[in-house]
Amino acid sequence: MDFDLTDEQRLVQKTAADFAKNEVLPKAAEIDRAHRHPKELVARMAELGLLGVAVPEKWGGAGFDTVSYVLAMEEISRACASTGVIMSVNNSLVCDPIWRFATEAQKQDWLVPLAQGKLLGCFALSEPEAGSDAAAQKTTAVRDGDGWVIQGTKNWITNGPVADVCVLFTMNDRAAGHKGITAFILPMKTKGVRAGKPDDKMGIRGSQSSQIFLDDVRLPADAVLGEVGGGFKVAMSTLDGVRIGDNGRDRLGGRCQRVGQFRGGLAQLLQTCDGLWTGAHGLQICDCLVVKFLRQLHVMKIVRQFFVGLFHLDGGTDEVDQFVDGEGYVGGGG
Ligand SMILES: Cc1cc2nc3c(=O)[nH]c(=O)nc-3n(C[C@H](O)[C@H](O)[C@H](O)COP(=O)(O)OP(=O)(O)OC[C@H]3O[C@@H](n4cnc5c(N)ncnc54)[C@H](O)[C@@H]3O)c2cc1C
Repeated sequence: MDFDLTDEQRLVQKTAADFAKNEVLPKAAEIDRAHRHPKELVARMAELGLLGVAVPEKWGGAGFDTVSYVLAMEEISRACASTGVIMSVNNSLVCDPIWRFATEAQKQDWLVPLAQGKLLGCFALSEPEAGSDAAAQKTTAVRDGDGWVIQGTKNWITNGPVADVCVLFTMNDRAAGHKGITAFILPMKTKGVRAGKPDDKMGIRGSQSSQIFLDDVRLPADAVLGEVGGGFKVAMSTLDGVRIGDNGRDRLGGRCQRVGQFRGGLAQLLQTCDGLWTGAHGLQICDCLVVKFLRQLHVMKIVRQFFVGLFHLDGGTDEVDQFVDGEGYVGGGG
């Protein structure tokens, strides 16, 4: 088996690396400090084809393979975890399920502009009382003639405050359990849809997440993504894919994002150590050591997470996992 990268994969990697180094990295700290959605970087990612890397060209994407997507994701995450998350959600939580489950008409309406980066997407599965247990959905979809009426609240939705389109999961038949879940493509400007204020997170603060409130939201029959009652399959198959690219916790979770973050953190750590030993002396060294050590704690957190992610292959509970999940991470649950 040949594990060498193809010329095309190398080109995608270099394009992403150059963009990350020259345009993303210089802004990363400011984006995080200001909790700012980096609109201008998202627009540049659209130009470079990074918002629909593995979507076929026919549907507005760049038409590359999954390895190219992983390489690009690693490079962007190396420079800025927030920008990496925004990219990951649009590619793998939004474009991917729409590509796999949508009708031709839905693909034309939504996949093309999403993959081109003209629209930005979000994926709304989690709820205040339905995190890991996605089948505990409380958001309801009730038939109304040919269409549907939706009520409920979604939690921790990445890109929620800035998204144009949402892949939304609802419960349409509670008695049927996970077979009673239906997915919809929801334009965020639909009457009755409101994003809450951005969550106050511990990190990746340029990637805005929020609650989404759905109050008497009316959607037509052709907004259903996949089959009525087939939403659990849409959600689970999407999450299986996203774990390659996203910062998720289990299985292949977050490998390429974390590898990128680890590489970025390690480079910063080495640079700081270099400065320490060649720079200050006496009291200055002491002062410098304490400050730098405290600064590097957050790098070490990323390093630790990397190793937990690397060896913790089968999910399950772990103190670090609990720490980074929902409530703990966003401080007060949105
Ligand atoms: C920054 C951020 C962004 C997010 N973005 C999105 C998004 O865009 N869209 C979206 O839908 N959701 C999003 N989420 C929600 C995220 O997917 C949930 O946090 C996740 O599903 C876990 O849910 P929870 O936090 O309620 O944890 P819980 O479900 O309460 O789990 C807590 C801990 O218990 C463990 N656990 C749970 N059940 C079991 C079990 N049966 N056996 C053993 N251990 C178990 C879990 O592994 C975890 O360690 C985001 C969350 C965060 C923090």
